[in-house]
Formats: sequence, C-alpha cells, structure tokens
Amino acid sequence: MSVDFLLTGAGQLVTCDPGLGEGPLGLVEHGAVAASAGTVVYAGPEGGLPDLEVAADATRLDAGGRAVLPGFVDAHTHLVFAGDRADEFAARLRGVGYEEALAAGGGINRTVRETRAASDAELEAAAAGRLVEAARHGTTTLEAKSGYGLTVDDERRSLEVLASLAARFPVDVVPTFLGAHLVPAEHAADRDGYLELLEREMLPVCAPLARFVDAFCDRGALTVEESRRVLAAGRRHGLGLKLHANELGSTGGAALAAELGCVSADHLLFCDEREAKALAAAGTVAVLLPGTSFLLGTGRAAPVEVLRDAGVTLALGTDCNPGTCYCESMQLVVALACVHGGLTPEEAVLAATGGAARAVGLAGQVGLLAPGAACDLVVLAGRSYLDLVYHLGVNLAAVVVKRGSVIAGDGAPTGGLRGVGGEAV
Ligand SMILES: [Zn+2]
Repeated sequence: MSVDFLLTGAGQLVTCDPGLGEGPLGLVEHGAVAASAGTVVYAGPEGGLPDLEVAADATRLDAGGRAVLPGFVDAHTHLVFAGDRADEFAARLRGVGYEEALAAGGGINRTVRETRAASDAELEAAAAGRLVEAARHGTTTLEAKSGYGLTVDDERRSLEVLASLAARFPVDVVPTFLGAHLVPAEHAADRDGYLELLEREMLPVCAPLARFVDAFCDRGALTVEESRRVLAAGRRHGLGLKLHANELGSTGGAALAAELGCVSADHLLFCDEREAKALAAAGTVAVLLPGTSFLLGTGRAAPVEVLRDAGVTLALGTDCNPGTCYCESMQLVVALACVHGGLTPEEAVLAATGGAARAVGLAGQVGLLAPGAACDLVVLAGRSYLDLVYHLGVNLAAVVVKRGSVIAGDGAPTGGLRGVGGEAV
C-alpha cells in the first residue's frame, strides 16, 4: 500500500469510531494514521500498521506521545459580518438584555447595517481572519451562514465570500443561506413583503451557492409559520434544512424542525421531553452552542439530560457571531459544553467531531479517523483529550492537518495557515 502521509507516536489516538478502539471514542494507545491523497487508509495501533510504501515526499509526523483527534467540525457559525458589538456585550454585562438591545436598534440589525456598508474586500478579509483563527484552533470543517445582508445582493455577496474562502483556504466550508435571520428593519411594517422577496428573488440567486437553508425561529425573529414557509421554499430549491430553534423561549421551533425533518435544530435552550423525542424520531441532530448560552448569562443551558434520554444525536458549534458569542475556538466550546452544558468529555468530543459532521451532512466523511474518511486531524499539546476540558485558555492544537497536509501549528510556514496552493497566508 502506498501512502503520502504517515503519523506515528500518538500516545492516545482518538478515532471517534467505536469499532476501531476502546469506548465511545474508539481510543487506541500508541496509535498511527496513514493516508493516501488526503484519505485515511489506516488508523489504529502503530504495531498493526500494514506494509506501507511511504512516498519519498510524504508528510511524516511524530506525535511524540501526545493525543491525536479528528479535526474539529464546527456545526454552526456566522462567519461573514462586518463591524463588532463589543459595546453591546459590555452593556449586557451591566444587565441590559439581548432582546432589549435588539429592540433599541442594536443586535442583528446593527450588524446588518455594518455588513451592507462594508466593501467586498473588507467583508472577505474579516471572514478570512476568523476562518484562519478557527483552523489554528483545530477546526478543519465548518458550517457558515449568510444572514447579515438581508437583501438579494448582500445575501448573495455573503455566500460568494464563503465560496471564495473555500477556494482559498484548506478548510471545508459548508455554506448555509440564512436570509431568514430576521425581517430587516426596513421591512418591519411589511413582513410578508420580505418573505415574498426571499422566496421569489433571494432563493433563486442564493440557493446555488448554499447547501442548507436556515431560519431564526424565535421571539423577535421569525414565527413558526414564517419559518415553515422559508424552509419549505428552500427545500423546493434543493437545500437541506436547518433551524435556529428555542433559544429564547419555547417557541415551537423544535417541533417544527422535527416535523420538517431538519438535518439539525440549533440552540434548543428550551426543549421538553416530547420535543426531544420528536427530534430523535426525525433523525434531527441537536446542535448545542454552549458558548452562546454561557455568555447570555442566564444560567440556562440546553437540557442535555432530556436530549440524551430521548437518544438525540448531539453536535457542537461555536455560533461565532458578533452579538452573543464572538469565538472561533471549538476547544473552548468543548470545555464549556462540559463545565456549563453538562456533557461528559466523551460526549463533547464526539459532538465536536462525528456529531457535528452529521449536522452538516458529512457523516462518515469527516469527524472521525477511519479508513475512507478525510485525513483531518489535530495533534494536541497534551497527552489526553481530557486536556481540552482541563487545560483552559490556551491553544492546544500543536499541529493541524487537513487532507493529509499540515495547515497550522508546528511545521506550517511561520506558524500560519497554508493556502490551498501550499503558500503561507
Ligand atoms: Zn446562529
């Protein structure tokens, strides 16, 4: 067997494939990973490596006894926006509520104004900076939404930025059309007119640039009926379905996500047993965003016991956005999922890899280290995946590999991210 990537010396290889090792994480001691043309051909004990013909110019890594995990999959980001809302964040620390800020002309509407005002180059540079930061922290696949444009041209532009990032950087970007993030301020008196515009003009232009359609079904955003209309229209354009559901209240989003067979229902800070069972029966993944619920400061997290008992697949995302959670690090999200969200470390690691892959329609392709999957991995600066929960506030991604190439960390040029052509960026 001929390979062009060989990693040895993994003190703990976390395959996230229970068939390949111990426990739910499929742990292997003294592990190795071999890959050919970006696809894993072997993951398991180093002693069990088959006879390999290693290409002269192969990438060879010695993990030096450190832990090795699949690259993180971030199941939910709002990467494309201009401006920032640090002042609103500070106001929230002083007790001004998220919904109050939205009502006062801040919140999403403010970012919409700033995003529309940004040049193409400014918007792309801002999003690129965040993508690079995510990759440096071990994210090798991420979902990213439009949703701060909310005009035909600005929504299309946001999705074009994502297409450009996907072409420039060695990170898989799964684009989602979120023209239904909010009914923008100029349509406040004519909500139906906005939905008409979304359906008749935005979707035909945006659907070819996206894989999923999403809506923010919640208080102050879209109603259940409005969300249903948007998702049904997106489905007619061939898009998979996602839904921001039950973040601010029990608003019927979780039931709608189950009814429509959404690939994922995201946030779910409010979710009762009946809703959780419906999600499980529909095969809808619960994307938990513990960075957001932690920073909202209400003390509420998604009811993980209810979701777990119902057998709902869990996924994690950063929710990277300018309002409620400006964070690109899946490492921090894994930690918060445990210390704030009530997940076990094993559940959190699975949710940040295989679970998130399922939430973005890439189950079995990324988020695990097994033959046939992408050779996307992180060498941790620690001996165990438990360091993700235990050793906080530092970047534990010592080496980040995407499809068999080192893209960040030790061995990457200037410690930075390599572009798809291999150049330092
Ligand atoms: Zn979101």
